[in-house]
Amino acid sequence: MKNFGLDIWSNKNFIIEDGQLKLNYKSMPSLLEIVEEIRADDVRGPILLRFPHLIKRQITSLYSYFDKAMKENLYEGSFNAVFPLKVNQFPHAVEAVTSQGKDFNYGLEAGSKAELILAMSKTPYGANITVNGFKDKEMITLGFIAAQSGHNITITIEGIGELETIIEVAQECNLKVPNIGIRVRLHSAGSGIWAKSGGMDAKFGLTSTEIIETIRLLREQDLLQHLRMVHFHIGSQMSDIAPLKRALREAGNIYAELKRMGASALDSINIGGGLAVEYDQHTQSKARNYSIEEFSNSVVFALKEIMNAKNVKHPDIFTESGRFIVASHAVLITPVLELFTHDYQEHLLDFKEVNPPLIEELIDLNKLLNNKNCTEYLHDALDHMESILTLFDLGYIDLQDRSNAEILVHNIIKKALYLNPTDELDQLHVRLQERYLINASIFQSLPDYWGLDQNFPVMPLHHLNSTPIRAASLWDITCDSDGEIGFKPDRPLYLHDVNLDEEEYFLGFFNVGAYQETLGMNHNLFTHPSEYTVHINDTSYEIKNAIESKNILDILESIGYSKSEILNNLKSDLLKSDFITEQEKDDTLAKLETFLEQNGYLRTTN
Ligand SMILES: *Cc1c(COP(=O)(O)O)cnc(C)c1O
Repeated sequence: MKNFGLDIWSNKNFIIEDGQLKLNYKSMPSLLEIVEEIRADDVRGPILLRFPHLIKRQITSLYSYFDKAMKENLYEGSFNAVFPLKVNQFPHAVEAVTSQGKDFNYGLEAGSKAELILAMSKTPYGANITVNGFKDKEMITLGFIAAQSGHNITITIEGIGELETIIEVAQECNLKVPNIGIRVRLHSAGSGIWAKSGGMDAKFGLTSTEIIETIRLLREQDLLQHLRMVHFHIGSQMSDIAPLKRALREAGNIYAELKRMGASALDSINIGGGLAVEYDQHTQSKARNYSIEEFSNSVVFALKEIMNAKNVKHPDIFTESGRFIVASHAVLITPVLELFTHDYQEHLLDFKEVNPPLIEELIDLNKLLNNKNCTEYLHDALDHMESILTLFDLGYIDLQDRSNAEILVHNIIKKALYLNPTDELDQLHVRLQERYLINASIFQSLPDYWGLDQNFPVMPLHHLNSTPIRAASLWDITCDSDGEIGFKPDRPLYLHDVNLDEEEYFLGFFNVGAYQETLGMNHNLFTHPSEYTVHINDTSYEIKNAIESKNILDILESIGYSKSEILNNLKSDLLKSDFITEQEKDDTLAKLETFLEQNGYLRTTN
């Protein structure tokens, strides 16, 4: 596990070179040098790095595979993509998508009023906007305003009620009518933990009867020429391609039927999102059983077959891939603040003139341990430790003896693991795992780990030419016991043994660019990490769009407290206190104000 599964999850976006983890692009900076440059400005706490070139890479790959599939299949429709804002609405993520997707006319998808407003203000002219989710009259009116303002917008109806509202708005105002799409309720469901979006009991979509009724209503209202799109979405992180193929056959046939029923303006099929991302660090390709190539081929081939059989013009294909486009672009970097067994250092040993015999034996075991005897000596040491603890409980040895024994045994274990990292010691690894305290909140930065047990690849930025041997569990700084990524013997994480008094140690969490930021919560009032966009060029790189994590007063204000009231309370309490001089009060006040202007993460040396 020396390369931390880089070959499995990183898609060659990162490589290890000279013991450093580097971006595999242009000037190839190391993550560590970027982090050090940011921290040189006194930034503390977790850091989120965005790499727009990784979004470009995903967009380009999506387009080129569809392009290839369309050419090979003599497909006559076009390929179009929109980015679903719910996956990451943060300004610099959206900006990266729209700027990197510019050459492809990349559009945006909105699922709520606020997202729609965002899409209306950020979608370049000519690019598509699609609108999904439940809508009221206001939201539908917004769709009309967007169309009137020149946007290429398609409102997908999720039920007959929404169609009736569209008809109402069209009758009440003179604004341009947006394109209308219908979300179909498929009987074929998706796979994976997010599969609830498909199937007959799905939350969204029209049944066949409702589709027929929709056509009747549109025709009656003279709006049928606005029906442009058939839409489905079978759920996120699709692990298996088979349900997609079934969904395509179903939706494709619905499309062809509608054309035959006279929906002559209908010209596109929107296949939603669902393209999966590899989060696994251990076994090759567990997340999905298909490649992007197979995915695009399947879509194009299925639609071509159906349309050719029914003699219908090939529809334009729309995709709303979110996770696939942005997951890889963001990396979370967390400083390690502490290793919990760090205190077991040999220089803290303090022997007596005469030590208890068991301690003398531990001293010998520690001294004489080698790769031939290490397993045996380790067992002896563990056995002695049990006895020493019993003797301590019975009052026969004192705290100093116990401390010496703990340090010695700890060192024996460490040496034995170095000398003989075999399977036999695996069980021991689990028992002797090191706990690494990270300056971050799992609730804020990896909420899907907390809520869905979703793994994210994690690896250190240092020592990458030496094999890590410490079984690691990661603790965050929230005071919630769920804020922990435990050691899992079936997916073990090993990290390095570092002395944080002498060096820094940073961990990178990868593929965190989709959903994590928007779902992240301010548990314990830890807010979004400080974030930076890194543009890499041929000779170096540029750090832009710095947004430091919210300061303490702003965090409190954001949930409704008055900054000035808090500040005044703190000041007046301090000023009326006794026993320190006015000067000391002033100095303390100045200190307090500095604290309040810093972010809420820890500021020990790391
Ligand atoms: C969430 C969602 C998407 C994005 O799905 P990903 O799995 O992130 O690609 C696309 N379309 C719709 C309608 C969605 O609800």
